[in-house]
Amino acid sequence: MLVRLLYASRALESIGAALTDAILAQSYARNAEHGITGILCAYQNGQVFIQALEGERDEVNQLYANIVRDSRHEKVTLLDYAEIDQRVFSGWRMGRVDLNRVNVATIMRYSAYPNLDPFSLNGRTALALLMELSTTTTVVGRPEAAR
Ligand code: FAD
Repeated sequence: MLVRLLYASRALESIGAALTDAILAQSYARNAEHGITGILCAYQNGQVFIQALEGERDEVNQLYANIVRDSRHEKVTLLDYAEIDQRVFSGWRMGRVDLNRVNVATIMRYSAYPNLDPFSLNGRTALALLMELSTTTTVVGRPEAAR
């Protein structure tokens, strides 16, 4: 059974930007073998993350358990968890979006303030934001199909 999980987290202050590169390298290396696809959205210069994970339920649950335990970030906050009929981020083993480069008008469609607080998003809004970013913004990352 396929599920999709969305969460937000905060990087430890000292390792924001470098952390994003390290995570993506790890994701490219391991997500394909576990059937995981998704998108990682970095915000506030890599200090805050919103990530969507899609895949088989046990695989997504295992990866999320790893992520919650990961001491490189904190305040891991589950935003949404749903059984799904199909993936919406099937094109990326882990796509990367830099939210700092996104138009303020786009942010304001989903946020009360121009400075988005990912921890206050409800699951539907977080998913809608990530879906819009995946279709309208440049997503950096190795396409799932290219492996
Ligand atoms: P291991 O000790 O090697 O494995 C523990 C168990 O997890 C094993 O059963 C193994 O088979 C299983 N496992 C390992 N990788 C995956 C996977 N990708 N999917 C399902 N099961 C798996 N790591 C990723 O691999 N993909 C990501 O998309 C990802 N996103 C991250 C996002 C953030 C913001 C952060 C901070 C970290 C992210 N990580 C990601 C890294 C993650 O937290 C762990 O470091 C990584 O999963 C390896 O964990 P481990 O050393 O405990 O794994």
